[in-house]
Amino acid sequence: MRLALLGPPGAGKGTQASRICEAFDLLHLSSGDLLRAEKLNNSPLGKKIREYIDNGRFVPDELMINIMQNKITALIRQGFVLDGFPRTLSQAEALAKMLTALQRPLWLVVNLAVDPAVLTRRFEGRRICPVCLSVYHIELMPPMVADVCDHDGARLVIRPDDLPSVVRTRIQTYHQTIAPLLAFYRSGALLCDIDASGSVDQVWGLIKNRLESCGAGNERLQ
Ligand SMILES: [Zn+2]
Repeated sequence: MRLALLGPPGAGKGTQASRICEAFDLLHLSSGDLLRAEKLNNSPLGKKIREYIDNGRFVPDELMINIMQNKITALIRQGFVLDGFPRTLSQAEALAKMLTALQRPLWLVVNLAVDPAVLTRRFEGRRICPVCLSVYHIELMPPMVADVCDHDGARLVIRPDDLPSVVRTRIQTYHQTIAPLLAFYRSGALLCDIDASGSVDQVWGLIKNRLESCGAGNERLQ
């Protein structure tokens, strides 16, 4: 089983990817984790990546594709879930090309779709402890005492990334870059839309049902 997971920031991609991997015995290939691991290497590639990340810039497509291609080729005999890759149309095209060459095409692309209003609320309710970095949510995961960390009593704060104006821009940018990617996978009949506006357990239930029903008798499962 070879899957890719798409979804805006705050859609719970990482959490759902972990659950899929656990339930179906797949490898979780997170582009963020791979970049962070590569960055720590004292190799020419590691140094290049460090330059981009430390300057707050996106790693260019070509470099990202290179890293993913090495990893995917090494692990092609095992099933995997891609998380955070592909992120652009050219990454998606490169991925299709490498998987076709390996005769192991993608099986399904799961698109976690979340109502923008729900997404905004998720971010706006987020609070973080400046001391131990625990993350809370005023509605979904409130601390025992309002605005106070359960572990050390520190006053909770809002991360700059979670401010409404920043969140709105991030969501808009995501939708602009993802639109051609969705069209690409929809035209190849690979896309499976999942409503990810509910709780983690609800969303997981939808994904699991979908994967199990697709899996029965699907030859591409091999
Ligand atoms: Zn704390």
